[in-house]
Amino acid sequence: MSGATTVVEFDAVSKTYPGGVAAVRDVSLRIGRGELVAIVGPSGSGKSSMLNLMGSLDRPSAGRVLVDGHDVASLSDREVSALRATRIGFVFQQFHLAVGVPVLDSVADGLLYAGMPLRRRRAKASAALERVGLSHRVHHLPHQLSGGERQRVAVARAVVGGPSVLLADEPTGNLDSASGAAVLTLLRELNAAGTTVVVITHDREIAAELPRRIEMRDGRLVADIEQSTTIGAPR
Ligand code: ADP
Ligand code: MG
Repeated sequence: MSGATTVVEFDAVSKTYPGGVAAVRDVSLRIGRGELVAIVGPSGSGKSSMLNLMGSLDRPSAGRVLVDGHDVASLSDREVSALRATRIGFVFQQFHLAVGVPVLDSVADGLLYAGMPLRRRRAKASAALERVGLSHRVHHLPHQLSGGERQRVAVARAVVGGPSVLLADEPTGNLDSASGAAVLTLLRELNAAGTTVVVITHDREIAAELPRRIEMRDGRLVADIEQSTTIGAPR
């Protein structure tokens, strides 16, 4: 199914957490290969829950989630892990870089699942770091980097394996506005080069600049708007 044009599909998806919080309610959507999509909405509206479902970090309580045409519920735990490791790249607000691990190896670790020899992983990591503009920082440790640089390392790690989709949950939430804008520019560049990107943001200005905006409110998808900034892929 890797040639399919739909990368993520939700059919009437709901997620209710233990304790009864209905975080996602009856959401249907499709995200096509090559799209750049913003998910917006107030705190608690279900954005992260949506992204976790898209990334197979969580399973729906009802409905169907397909990633690259694979119904996540029909896969074994092992297959879900493989799907996640090879087809999905994650970026979070908190960077999640291992303390004391040089940048090059942090990014190379994004390829552990691929079973490549270390030399090859490092070569690919080096290329990914060049893409994010950090060729001059490969031997640095995370604490020697600015927040914006750390987030660019996290982006390099997320894309080093060539995922079908890059999922970013508030990637600019811990950054000053200049660094945040640079990370957004980077996501746009990766998208222009072919990566499908879904980005959660509470920043309305950022969201308004992206080609498609999905709005969440109380777990429901309340708007799905195509904006005329960039030509999006068909869905
Ligand atoms: P957002 O990312 O838009 O802030 P979330 O998806 O994180 O929203 O949360 C949606 C709702 O689900 C909130 O009411 C939140 O408290 C609840 N929630 C999120 N994760 C869990 C969880 N693991 N267990 C129970 N409730 C959760
Ligand atoms: Mg969230």
